[in-house]
Formats: sequence, structure tokens, C-alpha cells
Amino acid sequence: MQKSLELVRNFISNGILLTKVSDGLYRCNCPFCKEEITSMIVSSSLQEYKCFSCGKNGNITNFYMELNHTDFFGAVKIATGKDADSSQFYKENEVYYRMNTDAAKYFYKTLHSISGQKGLEYWRSRGLKEETMIKYGLGYAGAFGLYDNLKKDYNIKSLSKNGLIRSKSGKHYDFFYNRVIVPIIDENNNILGFGGRVLDDSKPKYINTGATPIFDKRMHLFNLNIAKNTHRDGFILCEGYMDCIGLYNGGFDNSVASLGTALTEEQVHLLKHYTNHVYLCYDNDEAGKNAMDNAYNLCHKQGIYIKCIDLLEAKDPDEFIQKYGSDAFEKQIIKSSYYNG
Ligand SMILES: [Zn+2]
Repeated sequence: MQKSLELVRNFISNGILLTKVSDGLYRCNCPFCKEEITSMIVSSSLQEYKCFSCGKNGNITNFYMELNHTDFFGAVKIATGKDADSSQFYKENEVYYRMNTDAAKYFYKTLHSISGQKGLEYWRSRGLKEETMIKYGLGYAGAFGLYDNLKKDYNIKSLSKNGLIRSKSGKHYDFFYNRVIVPIIDENNNILGFGGRVLDDSKPKYINTGATPIFDKRMHLFNLNIAKNTHRDGFILCEGYMDCIGLYNGGFDNSVASLGTALTEEQVHLLKHYTNHVYLCYDNDEAGKNAMDNAYNLCHKQGIYIKCIDLLEAKDPDEFIQKYGSDAFEKQIIKSSYYNG
């Protein structure tokens, strides 16, 4: 049977008692904050709900995300009884996801081996706690070893298509070597690719997985898998994955970052499934200012409230927390003001 996507019907089918206020407008007890007052209004004409007590609001997808503690795709499945397109896509590309999981395990294992000591020292020099390293599955790529490790399970063609190997004159090399490794994970906890940073100041400082069958950097946000479960209000939008990791390490689990490009419309759309409120926290320089203007324009267009965090004398949020501490960053969040471009 076809499920109804009408919001009011879905409230009723979930046992929520509605009182009619006027045509197309209803009141009910909020199913999320569980207050015994009718603090929520549901509009059948707008197909939106809002609680005046806890502030939760949204459309039918947000309703099921909140009610069932699931992500966007999970909510679509509950609402429609069908898998969102993503699961078909996942099935067809399963080998690439699995390959990345195996690569991530290899990088992680290498970090905690004798040959990974340099990598471990690097992460520690940035002040990262063990818990943070585990949470992000941080790793290390030595001079070689990944290809040897994966070639028994995967063919060379799919390894290179997935950006893990590059070939030159009939020889195959690891794409990432002598770098610390950050797995790039999507909101459903699939590993899409990797970022690698050198341990010193050599160039290029960062390399990331390029376009692959499963990774289009314009379509994903780093850290969304973690930020979507935050209890904090809104997301902190920052420039890169190192910022997100630094923020998490400092006690802020609600940051997201684009992946080596300017923020895109698709990323803002993705973010909007989870929050309506963004704190911009970009680097304290000319490039950061431009990135912030771009982010402002995109968020503003999609009706997202934007505040701006002042990093004082620090160049990025990671440095801010190292320099002034987490409490000071908390204060900057509270003090942040609405940004108008
Ligand atoms: Zn509520």
C-alpha cells in the first residue's frame, strides 16, 4: 500500500493527538520535548511543524529523523516505505566502499605499528587525544604497503578507479604515502575516500582522493556523521577536516567542513536536513573572508540563520582552542553575531 506523505496524517498514524485550531492548523503536545503542554503547531498547508518549547521544526523528513533518531535516508525509508536512491547506489558500488574500509583499517593499523610512530607523534603534537584519533579512525600511510595489502582482494583496475593506487610504466604505487591519513566518511558512515597530510612543511601539504565512482567532493560534508548526532544548537561550518577534528578534540562535536573546495549549494542542501542554524568559523585571512561570503550567500538563499564566530588573534579554530582553550571558544559562540555578508 502506498504510504501517505501528508504531514498531519503521519502525526495521527504515530499516535499523536491533534487539536484543530483553524483550517489546516493543528496543535499538539510536542513528541520530542515531551512537555505536557500543546507547544507544537502543525500546518497542513505548509506541511511543516514547529514546537514553541524546544524549537524543533521541519517537514515530514525532519519529523521521522527526529522521531526515529535516524538520518535523512532512514527517514525517507520510514516515510515512504522505500529505500532512498542511495541504497541502490550503495549496492552497485559496494566493492569501493568495502575497499576503503579495508584501506582505512590498514592505515589505522600502520599508525599503531612501529613504522607509524612518526605519524602518531604528529597527531600527538597537534594535541589530539587518543579518543579523538579513534573516533576519526586516523591513520598513517608509510612509504608503501597498501597495494601489497589490498591486491589479493581487489583488482588493480578497481583500486586505481577508487583513487588508492596510481600506475606508471606498468608499476603500481600507493597514492598516499608518508602522510597522516584522515578517512572521509559520509553521513551514513561509509568511507568515501581519504585525506593525507605531510608531516613537515613540504608541498603539497594536503592531498585528497579525487573523483571516484563513490566520491564527488562537492556532494558531501566532512564530519556530518558525527555532527548530526550533536546535542548542541546548530552546526559550526569551518574550512577543512583538520578544523573539525581540532574542534571535536576541544569538545565541539557539531562542526562540518567542505572537502577541499568552496562550499557548494549541494552541501548546504545536505546540511539543511539537520539544522537551520550555522556558525561560520573560517580562517582569519583574506581567503577565509571570501569563503565566508560565499558560505553566507549559499546559506542565506536556503533560509539558514548564520552567525559568525570571531577567532580573535587565532588563524583558525584549532589554533584558537590551543591558544585560548575550549571555554573561551564557547564564549565566542555565545557572543557570535548575525552575519550579513
Ligand atoms: Zn518540543
